[in-house]
Amino acid sequence: MQTDSSCLFCRIAAREIPADIVRESDRLVAFRDTNPQASTHILLIPKEHVRSIADIEDRHGDLLADIAQAAAQLAAAEGIEESGWRLVTNVGPDAGQSVFHLHFHLLGGRQMGWPPG
Ligand code: AMP
Repeated sequence: MQTDSSCLFCRIAAREIPADIVRESDRLVAFRDTNPQASTHILLIPKEHVRSIADIEDRHGDLLADIAQAAAQLAAAEGIEESGWRLVTNVGPDAGQSVFHLHFHLLGGRQMGWPPG
């Protein structure tokens, strides 16, 4: 599995940098965002270093399905499965990507507008 020792999220996945980890499996880690934008704001990442969703390849298999299932289970654990939640990933500067390791924001616990500003 490819990792990058200079990547913040690879280092969180390797537990070299502390984070509030709420879930871990053989290929995923989920941890609370340090700058939460909602009462639930959890980041889900693959342990493998993937720059963004634009770099998903056939070899990643059902990684995205695993992330979707983990997000739904975390939403239930957070008690927001009925009130609603959002799963979003940013790619590149216009979308506001600031960490170049694929991550999905699980957001919930407040009313959210659409479209995003
Ligand atoms: P993005 O702008 O989509 O790349 O999202 C990056 C997210 O990572 C932001 O919401 C940051 O608040 C969050 N973040 C940055 N550093 C950390 C960290 N050490 N632990 C948890 N979340 C972080």
